[in-house]
Amino acid sequence: AKQQGPGSIRRFDPALQTLLDSRQSLEKELADSIKEGQFFLLFQPQTSADGQLLGAETLIRWAHPVKGMIRPDLFISVAEETGLIRQLGQWLFEAVFRQIQIWRRQKVNYPHHLAINVSPLQFVDPSFVENLQKQVLYYDIEPSEIVLELVETGLLDNKHETLDKLHKLRAMGFKLALDDFGTGYSSLSYLKDLPLDILKIDKSFVDDLQTPSTLKLVHAIVDISHNLNLDVVCEGVEHKWQVNTLKEMGCRRFQGYYFARPLQADTLVDWQFAPAE
Ligand code: C2E
Ligand code: CA
Ligand code: CA
Ligand code: CA
Repeated sequence: AKQQGPGSIRRFDPALQTLLDSRQSLEKELADSIKEGQFFLLFQPQTSADGQLLGAETLIRWAHPVKGMIRPDLFISVAEETGLIRQLGQWLFEAVFRQIQIWRRQKVNYPHHLAINVSPLQFVDPSFVENLQKQVLYYDIEPSEIVLELVETGLLDNKHETLDKLHKLRAMGFKLALDDFGTGYSSLSYLKDLPLDILKIDKSFVDDLQTPSTLKLVHAIVDISHNLNLDVVCEGVEHKWQVNTLKEMGCRRFQGYYFARPLQADTLVDWQFAPAE
């Protein structure tokens, strides 16, 4: 029989067919779920080394009526491949802005540093900046309270356009963060060329701090960032020793299960760090 190339798909592989079917149903359901209000937001605290609340990252969840909670890792990629990410992204900004309005009306002390993840496909949309501009006006949002978290993927594909957008967003007052730094093909040119405010050091580095080379690398990244006037957020901090190690390097902002898991909006505003000792 003829050998099959690595990229070819066997036509009647039942396992693969199931996978394709479930992906197709996910696609279809995703489109309806936006209309039906099955998405909601959680907020994960960002803190100082001693657990003071400095801000929060918005993390989306899909409460599927049958399958239960679906994690974003699973559906964001589907939304990106199908183009639904634009609608979802639009919903996301609206949901965060509406939440801010609720907090304001309740006169509670919400963190004035709310990070929102922006998918690369959302960002390349030619009307991304314009739509966001309209939304902040409509919801009366102060952009300096919002951090847009961007990933490297595609960011330098069209450098001129990217820079133009980033400068516009910054001129409007938004803060810009580079997410997941240290994964993929992070290159220092991102730090050199892009107008950024914050660098988020990926969990994979934080997990591996006991390896001397990783430790040195993270230390160097923190130093470079501070020299470039970038704030550093260390992600996925799960243990106190990690906080102490990173604090010694000069890191002042942390996010991870050691401090808090993603929380509901009303829990966030009352949240206080209670060390588990
Ligand atoms: P991310 O932007 O890197 O978000 C951080 C992820 O790490 C979150 O997972 C968070 O719950 C998890 N995490 C935080 N601290 C710890 C820790 O100490 N230990 C462990 N094991 N995990 C920790 P989540 O919420 O499942 O989100 C996964 C990814 O999905 C996010 O990674 C982001 O890329 C994407 N995502 C989430 N919400 C959104 C959204 O609203 N829009 C877009 N475009 N993407 C989103
Ligand atoms: Ca993020
Ligand atoms: Ca991240
Ligand atoms: Ca990530």
